[in-house]
Amino acid sequence: MELKNIKDLSLEQLENEIVNLGEKKFRAKQIFKWIHSGIRDFNEMTDISIELREKIKSKFDLCIYNIIDKQVSKDGSVKYLFELPDKNTIETVIMRYKYGNTICVSTQIGCKMGCKFCASSKVRFIRSLTAGEIVEQVLCATKDLEQRISNVVYMGIGEPFDNYDNVIKSIKLLNSPYGLNIGGRHISVSTCGLVPKILEFADEGIQSTLSISLHAPNDKIRNEMMPISKKYDIIELINACKTYIQKTNRRVTFEYAMVNEVNDTKECAIQLADLLKGMLCHVNLIPVNKIENGIYVKSDIKRIDEFREELHKRGITVTVRRELGSDIEAACGQLRRDRLKEDKI
Ligand code: SAH
Repeated sequence: MELKNIKDLSLEQLENEIVNLGEKKFRAKQIFKWIHSGIRDFNEMTDISIELREKIKSKFDLCIYNIIDKQVSKDGSVKYLFELPDKNTIETVIMRYKYGNTICVSTQIGCKMGCKFCASSKVRFIRSLTAGEIVEQVLCATKDLEQRISNVVYMGIGEPFDNYDNVIKSIKLLNSPYGLNIGGRHISVSTCGLVPKILEFADEGIQSTLSISLHAPNDKIRNEMMPISKKYDIIELINACKTYIQKTNRRVTFEYAMVNEVNDTKECAIQLADLLKGMLCHVNLIPVNKIENGIYVKSDIKRIDEFREELHKRGITVTVRRELGSDIEAACGQLRRDRLKEDKI
């Protein structure tokens, strides 16, 4: 019988499983706490009888990752290459900020979205991660760092809204007071713009921040950079964000990777300001990070400053994102699957 990943279960689901094993319901809470404390073996659950541990082992897998590579940046960022039980590999990054550790989790093995500037689109899509597999990144990194991770951003490899149900479930698992207890407000989910899922997200009652990878002020430029833009045009996308804001009263973040001479002109800034006028939002400018064989060059500081000033003048809240981890290829858009494996293909 194939073992189920016990980390995929919500507390309620685990309670049902434990009751079905003929055990008392309250045991589930104890077990859930153990699992989400990062144990590496069911035998670490010392207040659970050996008999029950054996029953659990016969039905469930603990889905633990092995760290097969770990790189530490000059700025303290850490990039992990994790090996999953099925031998697939994913990358996960830790960023150190004054207010705590932030983890950037992957949601899929590979990505289907094909954004021109992103390294993740250069690797073959294999499959989506389950909720437990997303959470295990946080557990494994916490254990290795021996420090609490206080913030989670869904900005690693993959498109979170192309794996919607598992992503939502993983947020709820991270939120659990019996688990990592990371509040919704400390979680950000980033999407390249899957409009129907943005609308669904608006109705989830989740406190997390929604980030939209916008990167262009019009369809012409966006079509060149991001294939998804041909499916949902920029007006549909902005309208979905307006609905989201109206329903949740939450501020949306727009990510904008600055590419020299492509999307960083004064006209672009003016168009962008017009597009976002009056919205409860925030623009995050990111100098585009270089990827292998990439055609895009980052805008220089002067152009970024002028762009920022132009938006600011027009009443748009805007910041420039500090670059972290670029020396270990752990910055935005630089994540790819397993370099070693890739090279062998
Ligand atoms: N698929 C999701 C989340 C992963 S990417 C999304 O598209 O939002 C996380 C962020 O990094 C996105 O805003 C993405 O557009 C951005 N990004 C990708 N490649 C980049 C690059 N080379 N330089 C800067 N940002 C990049």
